[in-house]
Amino acid sequence: MSYVTKSPWVIHYDGSSCNGCDIEVLACLTPMYDVERFGIINTGNPKHADVFLVTGSINEQNISVVKQRYEQMPEPKIVVAVGICATSGGVFRECYNIKGGVDTVIPVDVYVPGCAARPEAIIDGVVKGLGVLAEKQARMAKLSGSAKTETATDTEQEPDEAIEVRYYGKVDEEPAVGASGEGKGEA
Ligand code: SF4
Repeated sequence: MSYVTKSPWVIHYDGSSCNGCDIEVLACLTPMYDVERFGIINTGNPKHADVFLVTGSINEQNISVVKQRYEQMPEPKIVVAVGICATSGGVFRECYNIKGGVDTVIPVDVYVPGCAARPEAIIDGVVKGLGVLAEKQARMAKLSGSAKTETATDTEQEPDEAIEVRYYGKVDEEPAVGASGEGKGEA
């Protein structure tokens, strides 16, 4: 995390989840996981956020909300899809009102597998996403002629490729199927 130059602020949006993943997001804030030790703050204002954390799938009612929140966030920003519903529509993908995963309406940078996604996986996803955020910051600095371009070399992640976080379920569990139709982030 040495490439992070400021505390990343996260905004969480529940698309149409069953609340399972949302409880795990809240667990990240508890003393047990204590995500604030990484400097990660949970905010309710998209204009203050760097990371858009989405749980649940996209339906006809929330398309405009997800797009609007995304557009309200300042650049650079990243999107983390948490749980199999957010990555692909999950068990609800065949429902009449479900469009699919978050990437059907906005670009996703990190896919976190699981049903529900475990707190370890969510934290892993956000921390991995910070590498993408640093890449975006560096590209913007380069474009604007800023001297901050040295932050670009501190991560090995490809800037334009979405990241899949490893599966944190029990070893004898089948990982939830992701957006590509294949198991996501198998251990
Ligand atoms: S991935 Fe599972 S726990 Fe998370 S919102 Fe979907 S059904 Fe609920």
